[in-house]
Amino acid sequence: MKTGVAYFHNRDVRHFERDLDDIIAHGCNFVVHCYSEIDMAWYNQAVEKIVRMTKDRGLTVYLDPWGLGGVFGGETFSKFVGEHLEARQIARDGTSLPAACPNQPAFRELIELWVQRAADLGADVVLWDEPHFYYDFVHTSSWENWACRCPACRDLFRKETGSDIPDQLTPEVETFRQRCMLKFLDQNCAQARGLGMKNCVCLLPDETGSLGKVAGTSPWHRIVRLPDVDIFGTDPYWALFGGEVDEFVGRYCARVKDLCATYKKEAQIWILAFLITEGREEEVGRAVEIARSHGIKNIAAWAYRGNHAIDIKCTDPEKVWEILGEAFRKAQAGSRGPQG
Ligand SMILES: [Zn+2]
Repeated sequence: MKTGVAYFHNRDVRHFERDLDDIIAHGCNFVVHCYSEIDMAWYNQAVEKIVRMTKDRGLTVYLDPWGLGGVFGGETFSKFVGEHLEARQIARDGTSLPAACPNQPAFRELIELWVQRAADLGADVVLWDEPHFYYDFVHTSSWENWACRCPACRDLFRKETGSDIPDQLTPEVETFRQRCMLKFLDQNCAQARGLGMKNCVCLLPDETGSLGKVAGTSPWHRIVRLPDVDIFGTDPYWALFGGEVDEFVGRYCARVKDLCATYKKEAQIWILAFLITEGREEEVGRAVEIARSHGIKNIAAWAYRGNHAIDIKCTDPEKVWEILGEAFRKAQAGSRGPQG
């Protein structure tokens, strides 16, 4: 049984030593460390120590290109998009967006550097977290203004189809965007695999809806079957999507489990441990139980200690962390069988 949490809370290694004790005491055997553009610029030595400390205690280390280029999930800013105005995504109406385009060579170089650094830092697994074309999660009315129509995308579309990229999101543009994201992931995973790391892909729980459409996400089976993808999962954050924990988490556990069984990949489910409001804390433990009941053996929570250090924390982060820890310890004990 694999149970883990995401960690981005600070780069003070003395502080992390205490947090690591706390993470282990809460039943985790892996940590997803965020390695952002800010880390790449200023905190390589600290991240190297943090990764080594984690591995020295016997835990598996995932590294997450957190918010890299604004293309992956993460509450951080991209340095790259300020330095490479030419490599930004361009919206349908011509607006330059605060996100890099996966088809731009300069961004490809940043990704390649990140993967090489992740290998040098000693990562076991790379978490490709919610790769997407740009969208504003809150203002859904802006989703009609899709990306990307940058020069690189225009050239590629013309090369592949023989015509100019339309300004409407036609089925042809939709499949083009999906192909671009799929190729982007495939290249990233191949490089990581070549450097001895495993690949884990996490997608938003919206395979065919408007969110998946604006993000340019391919039908999930095409991603799961990529040769270098080892682990596939989703983050069914029921409370954020207005869902009920049993139904919402259960539905996505079944879908991920089924797909991973078909393509012989490892299934992973993320548990919501941020923005949990007062009175709903027990739902976090329930979500872990639901994942276990579906036979999911890789369960991760976002994030450490109820996300206590950031504005999008739980109302009572300590309570959520205790409930999560209890559920994780129970999962670990259960996987060891009745003989303990
Ligand atoms: Zn583009």
